[in-house]
Amino acid sequence: MSGGTSEVDLAEGVSHQVAMVMDLNKCVGCQTCTVACKTLWTEGGGREYMYWNNVETKPGEGYPRNWGESGGGWKSAEHGERSPGEIPAQGDYGRAWEFDHEAIMYDGSDEPLRPQGDPTWGPNWDEDRGAGEHPNSYYFYLPRICNHCTHPSCVEACPRKAIYKREEDGIVLIDQERCRGYRYCVEGCPYKKVYYNARTKTSEKCVFCYPRIEGSGPDGETFAPACAEECPPQLRLVGFLDDERGPIYKLVEEYEVALPLHPEYRTEPNVYYIPPFAPPQHSDAGETVDVDRIPREYLEELFGERVHRALDTIQRERERVNLGESSELMDLLTDTNPARKYRLEVFDDA
Ligand code: SF4
Ligand code: SF4
Repeated sequence: MSGGTSEVDLAEGVSHQVAMVMDLNKCVGCQTCTVACKTLWTEGGGREYMYWNNVETKPGEGYPRNWGESGGGWKSAEHGERSPGEIPAQGDYGRAWEFDHEAIMYDGSDEPLRPQGDPTWGPNWDEDRGAGEHPNSYYFYLPRICNHCTHPSCVEACPRKAIYKREEDGIVLIDQERCRGYRYCVEGCPYKKVYYNARTKTSEKCVFCYPRIEGSGPDGETFAPACAEECPPQLRLVGFLDDERGPIYKLVEEYEVALPLHPEYRTEPNVYYIPPFAPPQHSDAGETVDVDRIPREYLEELFGERVHRALDTIQRERERVNLGESSELMDLLTDTNPARKYRLEVFDDA
């Protein structure tokens, strides 16, 4: 199939846009995606503090700490003027912890294996803390990668045009030969998904595993990004936003239940989230009360005002299934067939 598009808003000059949908109702916070990414791309050489894929607990401050308040993005929907952003301090990412494996594993120490020094912050420092009071406390996990935005403010920020958006699939990459480590991209990304490598003096970021999707595996096979393939509950769908037959198009454009994180930054992310559901609150006596456990205002802060309609749509379709009726939306959200979850070969020219 070759592609004509569509109602989808593609960046100028971009033929097709890769995208990912993550269903937050399925994330168990196991960090398998983080480890898969870390071992494939960022295992050393100035990258110790970097997690191109990270999973943070919400509510919580995230990684880097308070990234949501660090600025960046665009001042208006016209993308004429960027918002000023900040470069996080190293401590906001947390330092790479060191462990004395030698003493504990081989030299007979009976101390537990724990980070050396006295860490005060790190990736997912807020793990499982959440908010609310017993019996109505709540939290959920938020996996994050670069959003390969339609209007990437990181790209606009680079005076050397070292960071660019690929025409064939909209993946945002950094040309390591051109980069001079000015870090304007780090400042400009409101999601803080570009990282500075102090050893190579260049910036680095999630590459959407482009060699895997280009089929550079041993036998030329195509693979979805490692974070998606390795996820035990298989909560990530990968494909092209403008593939009208794919689940991503349906979830984002038709049902409008997959939403970008912080749409108010106006970079138009191409990673989308199915917002989290939780059981309603309980009274102290254990009776169900008609109050959302995860406050809708909090979800609105993360996903914008469209979250209300998205949650209502999902709830309506869940009820249909409970009544024995069919629901295409629920079928899409519970599909386990990898051929439908990862549709990367639908555009011959991609
Ligand atoms: S998430 Fe940040 S780094 Fe990634 S494309 Fe968007 S602005 Fe650039
Ligand atoms: S691998 Fe999947 S379930 Fe585990 S933390 Fe990552 S996204 Fe969540």
